[in-house]
Amino acid sequence: MTDSTRSNIPTFDGEEILAGIRRWVEIETPSHDGVAVNRLVDVVQSDLTRIGAHTQRTPGRDGFGDVLEARAPWGDESEPGILILGHLDTVHPIGALATTHVFRREGDTVYGPGIYDMKAGSYLACYALQHFVREGRRTTLPVRVLYVPEEEVGSPTSRAAIEAAARKSKYVLVMEPARDGGKCVTARKGWGRFDMTITGRASHAGSRPQDGRSALRELARQILDLESISDPAIGVSVVVGMAQGGSAPNVVPALATATIDLRVPPGIDADAVVQRVLQRPAFDPDCRVEVEGGINRPAYGKNEGITALFEHAKACAAEIGFVLEDTPLTGGVSDGNFPAALGIPTLDGLGADGRGAHALDEQISFASLVPRAQLLVRMLETLR
Ligand SMILES: [Zn+2]
Repeated sequence: MTDSTRSNIPTFDGEEILAGIRRWVEIETPSHDGVAVNRLVDVVQSDLTRIGAHTQRTPGRDGFGDVLEARAPWGDESEPGILILGHLDTVHPIGALATTHVFRREGDTVYGPGIYDMKAGSYLACYALQHFVREGRRTTLPVRVLYVPEEEVGSPTSRAAIEAAARKSKYVLVMEPARDGGKCVTARKGWGRFDMTITGRASHAGSRPQDGRSALRELARQILDLESISDPAIGVSVVVGMAQGGSAPNVVPALATATIDLRVPPGIDADAVVQRVLQRPAFDPDCRVEVEGGINRPAYGKNEGITALFEHAKACAAEIGFVLEDTPLTGGVSDGNFPAALGIPTLDGLGADGRGAHALDEQISFASLVPRAQLLVRMLETLR
């Protein structure tokens, strides 16, 4: 490495970055609590306004928080630029911070609710913009940041905003957490969500069992049939994640419900699989089976545009001094599925390294913060 390339790498203070992340983590933001999420949106908006970014806030719908879009204070708005995506919600309930997920640092490990997925990554986007403003530098392409309030429940109210912003962009960088020691994500399966309702007929379990039509019995058969659609060889999976039914221990159950999770890899006919989930003839002709739902996030593969963007990121990482790898196809989904499925070159998993997303031991690696911030800044600076 020559001194001239080295001098391109900004020097960052990990403690300063962590202090910023901590402020965001300590405002708890469960997806379904729009009021709580908006407390963080207020802080993020004022952080961005303070550095001169132009912010635009779209009021939340259906009880969710607001969507926040920010434009870097430079660049021509009409030119296709770089979109940075992040979400401000977490899966953790209010109170996790005081009980199960106390913010703490043990050596290199920093714990906190949603710190890995994905407040650290979301904060890095804000931090990178602040860096350019502090240094009086700017990027060649215009930069936008979009923060959504309900990614963890499938982005039902922000999907249109994500797709609209993506269509105006040349590249999309997603600050979701890094995987397995710093890997980024270049392909994701698609995700479908369905609700199944089975209606049978109630009767006395003791005196008139023959008159009843058990919705639970039908459900059991449907679960086995549905899950047999799974085909590990091609990466399709169907999982019934929740099921309930019945009204009393001594009643033949008249009603049963279940949720269905479908994952489909890119390159297969997702519609055909969806139809197999939706079209559910009842095993018992006296029961009625209804399924509603569909693909929430479409699959995408590592196409030419994504490969080129990944190679670019790899070169930036090499200059900083680390090797950036990508993961094999993952079944986890993110908002990155939306722009990538539209064909916009999208690189995901650019956030902090760590582990335990959604889990009790959710954590980031402190040592990853500076290199990830440097990587984001160098990408923003060098993408043309
Ligand atoms: Zn996430």
